[in-house]
Amino acid sequence: MLGRVTERETRPMRPTIGLPQALVYHKYFPLWGEFFSYLGADVAVSGPTDKRVLNAGLEAADSELCLPVKLFFGHVLELAQQVDFVFVPRIVAVEGDAFTCPKLLGLPDMIGALGERAPSLLSETFNMKRGMRDFYKSVYKVGSVCTDSSIKVYRAWRSGLRAQADYERQLLGGVTPLDVLGQGIPEKEPDLTIGVVGHAYNVYDRHLSMDLINRLRKSGGRVVTGEMLPPKVIERELQRLPKRLFWSYEKEVVGSAFHFIHTGDVDGIIFLLSFACGPDSLTQVLIEHEARKTSKTPMMSLVVDEHSGEAGMATRVEAFVDMLRWQKGRVC
Ligand code: SF4
Repeated sequence: MLGRVTERETRPMRPTIGLPQALVYHKYFPLWGEFFSYLGADVAVSGPTDKRVLNAGLEAADSELCLPVKLFFGHVLELAQQVDFVFVPRIVAVEGDAFTCPKLLGLPDMIGALGERAPSLLSETFNMKRGMRDFYKSVYKVGSVCTDSSIKVYRAWRSGLRAQADYERQLLGGVTPLDVLGQGIPEKEPDLTIGVVGHAYNVYDRHLSMDLINRLRKSGGRVVTGEMLPPKVIERELQRLPKRLFWSYEKEVVGSAFHFIHTGDVDGIIFLLSFACGPDSLTQVLIEHEARKTSKTPMMSLVVDEHSGEAGMATRVEAFVDMLRWQKGRVC
């Protein structure tokens, strides 16, 4: 069943809310995890991704969809039997002058189309273009699955925002979401700095990325990512484009790539993309063009699809790291 479940008689005493560990999870999990916990819900997180979850998504989703959305299906199906509701927000816009990708806009409808296999969804539209009043209405509707008290929902939201701000402070301080989640290995006396850019759901999903961050750390790399850059740096870099980009999350990817390309703060850049992503096919051209123009910082684009093998990825990453060392004159 798709849609809001806010009627009192359908509300469990202490609902279990499922958060799929895919798509925007790595971006917003402190906010929503804290919000629902504050309201007294039990929060269940799916995953992490493994072959079984991915295969379930591949089997259930339309073959035309991009890999991260197919994977999202797998995470939703994993939660379906364990929770009262799976939280699948329709995120239309997170700022005034851009939208999210159309696939994110249609996510609740696509999951709802699973028919009998679809779990009960907790889904509201979040559209910053309609203003804060409309945004808060959606927050209250989501919170009303746990309580009738708008004051309590307000407090839960404030508490969620504090958790999110604390998380973002940690990322700006130089750690990755994997480290916050306890999934990152420590760096070992790194002699190279490597910028990794791409959507958070590609970069921080250890199965999808074939553990790229930890793999680089094991090879002696210090990894820096777009999440470690303040928004004003990203905005400044975007001024290099002749036209503004329409998609918020792609702006972050392009802005961080441009920063690494132009500052020379990194020895090399890896751009991680997933198969069948429409927006990434455009941003890849923009980023590769910018990298060629400056030709200062080596860059490698890695595209993951449902058939990507770990051996092929490992070979390419090792060869790239060796090339960076050779370029720095550290090996002959
Ligand atoms: S931006 Fe690309 S990968 Fe992300 S949801 Fe849209 S099409 Fe899929």
